[in-house]
Amino acid sequence: MTPLLGLDAAGLDRFFAELGEKPFRARQVSRWLHQRFADAPERMTDLARVTRERLAATATIAAPAVIRDTTAADGTRKWLFDVGAGNAIESVYIPEDDRGTLCVSSQAGCALDCAFCSTGRQGFNRNLTTAEIVGQLWHANRALLADGVSAKGRPERELRPLGGCGGPSQAPWVEQGRAPITNVVMMGMGEPLANYDNVVPALRLFLDDNAYGLSRRRVTLSTSGLVPMIDRLAADCPVALAVSLHAPDDDLRDRLVPINRRHPLKELLAACLRYLPHAPRDFVTFEYVMLDEVNDRPEDARKLVAIAREVPCKLNLIPFNPFPGTGFRTSPRARIRAFQQVLMDAGVTTTIRKTRGEDIDAACGQLAGQVQDRIKRRLAVRIAPLPAR
Ligand code: SAH
Ligand code: SF4
Repeated sequence: MTPLLGLDAAGLDRFFAELGEKPFRARQVSRWLHQRFADAPERMTDLARVTRERLAATATIAAPAVIRDTTAADGTRKWLFDVGAGNAIESVYIPEDDRGTLCVSSQAGCALDCAFCSTGRQGFNRNLTTAEIVGQLWHANRALLADGVSAKGRPERELRPLGGCGGPSQAPWVEQGRAPITNVVMMGMGEPLANYDNVVPALRLFLDDNAYGLSRRRVTLSTSGLVPMIDRLAADCPVALAVSLHAPDDDLRDRLVPINRRHPLKELLAACLRYLPHAPRDFVTFEYVMLDEVNDRPEDARKLVAIAREVPCKLNLIPFNPFPGTGFRTSPRARIRAFQQVLMDAGVTTTIRKTRGEDIDAACGQLAGQVQDRIKRRLAVRIAPLPAR
């Protein structure tokens, strides 16, 4: 059985060719799946009965099973999904006045072991499949539509009508509204560029006019800095890029973001510069987690200014979100403001990320899911033998 949610346009074309169906069927089914959120071939009322039967016999349509669905006081909503073998992942919906953003996971756990990240703490279990990645968006849109939430602030020209086919078998929510999720950020559990082969088809579906139809600037991928993969992304599927910087020099970044020992800052910044001509925006977003007395001194900010002179960027300061067992503290508010001021005075656009969904542990870096780290694959272990630079 083929999981249909995991097939991008090219994959669906191949799938329907193998079934002996006409190519336009692929696009038709793509719209049923990703715009009307059909969960069974029998709902696809404008397909011939024999096609529906063939589909039912060869394919499945399903997101990972929901273990828990929690809504925070500020409207942030978090789904915990079962991805089998004792592993769970999370997705977070963040409603704002002018958009609805879904933060999507790419791996069960993460091998990169950043010092301040609860996902990293758990180690790595496995890559999510494309169907599991896309399934998060599919499920969230469906669940929100079922609750009567519709798209906010998305320009009319970017919206595709969801209704149109009618019929008794059509899901009731289809005609109620439009896909409520207008932005996707690959900022959940895992390092998306370490699961490149499954993430890129998912990105393609997010962008595809016959699927979610989001513009490239509404899809953001966040990476801790897998340099060769940044170049591949530029060639294969450039979307808005966020880079987890977190330190202004190699000494500190080596400790906070261990992948830096393999791809140091100079290489990372050069990769950002190579990416920009392909990017949908003319800047890279640098994420910078504010850790009390670790990376929040004014001189750190001044070093960041030097980096910003090199790479067109916006800085996003993320107050550290604590989790049980962490040795770090959040920088005090005044210190974050002072840090921001140094950057702003130098003309660097710098925002402080608003913490959302704190009361349900849905904030950045708090996503825990549950990972059976039987293999204890952690980057720190794997790169330890590298010679000191
Ligand atoms: N693996 C990717 C994307 C997932 S993490 C990456 O590292 O970029 C999304 C963002 O949350 C990253 O910038 C990450 O460094 C940050 N983050 C991780 N743990 C955090 C924590 N405890 N508090 C605040 N931000 C955190
Ligand atoms: Fe992995 Fe990103 Fe967490 Fe680092 S911050 S451990 S790359 S999920």
